[in-house]
Amino acid sequence: MTKKKTYITKSEEETFQLGEKFAAKWNPPMTVLLRGDLGAGKTVLTRGFSSGLGLEDLSLVHSPTFSLVNIYETPSGSLYHIDLYRLDNSKEQYSVGLDEILGEPGFVVIEWSEKLKIPVSEYLLVDIRVLDDDSREISLEPGSGAGY
Ligand code: ADP
Ligand code: MG
Repeated sequence: MTKKKTYITKSEEETFQLGEKFAAKWNPPMTVLLRGDLGAGKTVLTRGFSSGLGLEDLSLVHSPTFSLVNIYETPSGSLYHIDLYRLDNSKEQYSVGLDEILGEPGFVVIEWSEKLKIPVSEYLLVDIRVLDDDSREISLEPGSGAGY
C-alpha cells in the first residue's frame, strides 16, 4: 500500500491552496524535499505551506537563491526555506549549517532537493511536474533515508 497522493492543479492559486491545506496539518519535525524544474511551482507551493503554518506576511517567501537559507517565523514555529540550486556540493551544504537545520525538530522545505548531500531520515517527497502553462501534477509521498 502506497501513501502517495497525486493532485492536478490548474493555476498558481490552486497550487498555493494545496500547500496551505497540507501544512495546516503538520507538526514538527517536518522536512519537505521539493523536486521539479525551474518554474514548476516549488516557491508557490512553499508560499502555501507558509500560509498553512500561519504566516501572514507572505511577501517574505521567495526563492532563497542568493540568501541560500530563508527563515520565516510562523505561529507554528520557524520554517527554514532552502534552495540547493547553487549549493550543490556537500562542503557548501555543511558550511551553511544545513546539517544542524536538519537535525532540529522544526519545519524545513528544500527546493532542488535532488542535490541534497546530507542524510535525512524522514521526509515528505513532493514532486511537481509541468503539464502545460497553467497545469501541474503534484505528488506527495512520505519517505525515509535520502540525501547521500
Ligand atoms: P520554482 O520555484 O519551481 O522555480 P515558482 O514557484 O517560482 O517556480 O514559479 C512557478 C511559476 O509557474 C509562476 O510564474 C506561476 O505563476 C506559474 N504557474 C502556472 N501554473 C501554475 C500552477 N498550476 N501551479 C504553480 N505555479 C504555476
Ligand atoms: Mg523557487
